[in-house]
Amino acid sequence: MTTEANITIIGAGVIGLAIAAELSRQQEGILVIEKKRTFGLETSSRNSEVIHSGIYYPEDSLKARLCVEGNRLLYEFCPKYGVGHRRLGKIVVATNEDEVGKLEELCRQGLRNGAGDLRLLSRKEVKEFEPNVEATAGMFSPSTGVVDAHALMRLMHGLAREQGTDFVFNTEVVGIEKTGDRYRVEIRDREGTSGLTTGILINSAGLYSDAIARLAGIDIDRVGYRLHYCKGDYFSLNSADGAPVSRLVYPLPEQAGKGIHITLNLDGAFRIGPNAYYVGEADYKVDDTQREIFYRSVKRFLPRLRIEDIEPDFAGIRPKLQGPEETFRDFVIRHEEAKGLPGLINLVGIESPGLTAAPAIARHVGEMVRRLR
Ligand SMILES: Cc1cc2nc3c(=O)[nH]c(=O)nc-3n(C[C@H](O)[C@H](O)[C@H](O)COP(=O)(O)OP(=O)(O)OC[C@H]3O[C@@H](n4cnc5c(N)ncnc54)[C@H](O)[C@@H]3O)c2cc1C
Repeated sequence: MTTEANITIIGAGVIGLAIAAELSRQQEGILVIEKKRTFGLETSSRNSEVIHSGIYYPEDSLKARLCVEGNRLLYEFCPKYGVGHRRLGKIVVATNEDEVGKLEELCRQGLRNGAGDLRLLSRKEVKEFEPNVEATAGMFSPSTGVVDAHALMRLMHGLAREQGTDFVFNTEVVGIEKTGDRYRVEIRDREGTSGLTTGILINSAGLYSDAIARLAGIDIDRVGYRLHYCKGDYFSLNSADGAPVSRLVYPLPEQAGKGIHITLNLDGAFRIGPNAYYVGEADYKVDDTQREIFYRSVKRFLPRLRIEDIEPDFAGIRPKLQGPEETFRDFVIRHEEAKGLPGLINLVGIESPGLTAAPAIARHVGEMVRRLR
């Protein structure tokens, strides 16, 4: 393995892969370090695989801007490289009169963000779109879709490698030290502990990005980088009466998540989830005691659902900057020069819509790196 790199990227989830694919188009000497045996085994393979349109986030936030741009880039990128995806469209439903005002506000926010041709639907129009769905009103988002996240990552990994990026797996970053105008990165693999130096260091370590920032000497509580783990369980939905819906159907969002929704993947399998609850550590066991809550929550808008139609499936963990009871926090994507760490770029709190935004985040980081050189 190389002991000197121009650019080192920590983490080979969708964000590290997208950045590697983007930067290696023009730069040499890029190294990606991943602690697992291969790429994409954490949050990037434990999500809804939805290409979001950018409705949910405050205007001008990084989440809004990078989601809208990422949505556009994914719809260019996927057909060009044959990555499985479908622009299915999505309906957000209000299930009572009290929710209609919130739905209208969500629609206005989405339009301000540039989230495609959103339009409000009456009860009758919701039924025309989705005969099995019961709602007081709805909003249609035509540019929402689904993507095969693994195929997307496989492609980004392949592009980055073809363009000269080195990947090392089963290797964990355990120390970071600033030495002159470079960084010494301490790594641990099966052989033991060793080191390498790098000019630019990019932290895209997902659930551990706050820990990596701390290794670089940043006081994560003082600067607001401490992550809170927010778990989301999924249940599979198999209805004996055939497909319950033909698009994605969401309720209104909640404090920490988008509300337990129905998704449909490229194989035609239905899933409900994720819920959202804060946990102390990353444990991926699905909590079966949630079955009744999932059932009641989706039955509000899908009355034909039966509890025996749903089974525990899998879980993911959101790396959230927003703690319990707190309000919106944006992605942190920051060159840390002001903290005395020039050349270090931290990406912290890359929760949803991180999958959608990945190609746009990569461009954004690409701009930061170009300004550094
Ligand atoms: C339940 C749920 C549903 C979601 N649904 C959607 C959705 O539908 N659409 C959407 O756009 N987004 C969605 N997201 C968000 C999306 O999945 C994430 O934003 C995205 O996957 C984050 O990618 P990442 O590369 O930052 O993190 P990860 O995929 O977690 O990758 C980080 C990598 O860093 C590695 N790493 C960590 N520490 C070290 C270390 N010390 N040394 C070396 N390697 C290290 C890890 O092993 C890991 O592979 C969802 C997230 C969750 C949890």
